[in-house]
Amino acid sequence: MSGQLTGVGVGRGAVCGPVARVSSAPQAPAGETPPADKEVAKAAVSQAFSEVTAGLRRRAVAAEGTLAEVLEATAMMAEDKALIKDVLRRVTAGEPTLTAVDRSVDKFCQMFLGAGGYLAERVTDLRSIRGRVLAQLMGLPEPEVPDLSVPSVIVAEDLAPADTAALDLTKVLAVVTELGGPTSHTAIIAGQQGIPCVVRVAGAMTLVDGTQVAVDAAAGTVTTDPSEELRAEYAERARVLASLDDLTGPGATSDGHPVQLLANVGQVQDATRAAGKANEGVGLFRTEVLFLEATSAPTEAEQAAAYGAVLTAFGDRKVVVRTLDAGADKPLAFANQAHEDNPALGVRGYRLGRILPDLLDTQLAALARARAETGIEPWVMAPMIATPEEAREFAAKARSYGIATVGVMVEVPAAALRADRILAEVDFVSLGTNDLSQYTMAADRLQGALSDLLSPWQPAVLELVARVAAAGVSAGKPVGVCGESAGDPLMGLVLAGMGITSLSMAPGAVATTRYVLSRHSFAQCQVIAEAVLAVETADQARQAVLDRVDPQVRAVLAL
Ligand code: PEP
Ligand code: MG
Repeated sequence: MSGQLTGVGVGRGAVCGPVARVSSAPQAPAGETPPADKEVAKAAVSQAFSEVTAGLRRRAVAAEGTLAEVLEATAMMAEDKALIKDVLRRVTAGEPTLTAVDRSVDKFCQMFLGAGGYLAERVTDLRSIRGRVLAQLMGLPEPEVPDLSVPSVIVAEDLAPADTAALDLTKVLAVVTELGGPTSHTAIIAGQQGIPCVVRVAGAMTLVDGTQVAVDAAAGTVTTDPSEELRAEYAERARVLASLDDLTGPGATSDGHPVQLLANVGQVQDATRAAGKANEGVGLFRTEVLFLEATSAPTEAEQAAAYGAVLTAFGDRKVVVRTLDAGADKPLAFANQAHEDNPALGVRGYRLGRILPDLLDTQLAALARARAETGIEPWVMAPMIATPEEAREFAAKARSYGIATVGVMVEVPAAALRADRILAEVDFVSLGTNDLSQYTMAADRLQGALSDLLSPWQPAVLELVARVAAAGVSAGKPVGVCGESAGDPLMGLVLAGMGITSLSMAPGAVATTRYVLSRHSFAQCQVIAEAVLAVETADQARQAVLDRVDPQVRAVLAL
């Protein structure tokens, strides 16, 4: 009998196949006793970490591209001095060896989870390192993925890069994990390879090896013992989706109205990966992601090197660099504030200049240096601008460093309401719909319980977006959207119809948006944009688009 598990889907593919489970990592046994000889135990711990590091590095050398990068990143984590020191300190203090490894890794996981966002998702790598170090200490083989004899759906508690590297990806039909997140390495790699992936599937590890399952990344579902009809439907969807990647070129409606399709990037390696794909550049380079782990402010030289690498990777394509957006959901150790009761309403983003003015100057100097060294002109924008006066001040400063194209983000309702005056000060604006939703609806973006209010489909948010888009059309200046909503192809139609000139999204979402845009005329997009503004609820707004979308698009995307 068929049953269904649900999780968070990554990508849009759907596929059927047999389950191949990844064995669980060894655990520190309960009731373990402290070592008789602490020095011997400490030497064994150091040895185990170096064996694991060396093993990962060997594989990194043998691998290519992204896999090599993620393996090297994991190897670096396995030789992290702070982590090893913490384990050794525990053993010195009399804790049992395996338990010490366990507790240290837990402590670091908690720290990463506390930092949130990108760092929170690195806990998968830490847990994988723990499994490998424990296996080394217990004299067991390191946990490995199964040898696949037939194409299979990989089911794991979590899948770290090192596990993914050992997989024969040509035999991986889909990936299902009980833990992990949509931006984990596994999800990134699966997305890159076009492998459907569903993460955070409660009960995934109850699936039995060999059971037939149907995995739908668009719906985030895993169905056991799928019917013949479902199999046929998935096969057809897979065929059409595979053909979307063949469409390349600039984003445009069916009648040629241009809408630039750009990528959001954080780390330099994300950027180089995105540069290899069909897009028109970077619409949001979240520079704070480069420095999430830094304990002191990054130097001009460090920053210039990172910016230069991204500019070079994209060559003559546009790259919009956002100045540091530290604070609230993106805490940076070197810019941390004394306790704030409401950090989201506090000294964050551009406002940090009030207390740490050097941060912005160093960053703009670094960008100017990268520009001089590469000969490539970056675009720059500031986050969390609330007033035209702030926009003017930022533009003057950025221009004084020789940056030619200066903009600001519109993510505070005050800025959206005065978009015409803000646009008078800058060359372009980019809507951050994540924060714009948070501040318009007074709903914390980290509060899953308020996700209905946080929806970018909320009519009040859409009204503000439309207002900014209209101001851009009047001023004849670009207005982009770089919040997550830009990656929803249905929303893309609304935004295009409002007059938005660029959509910046996760690099993997570009192909679908390009296809969906190409199936609608600009006039149809305008009708869709008018329709969403006429309704009363977020659900009605989305439904208004669904009712007007091209039937073939509905079928392909299983909408
Ligand atoms: C946004 O707020 O929509 C945005 C793009 O910026 P971030 O998500 O980095 O705050
Ligand atoms: Mg923001």
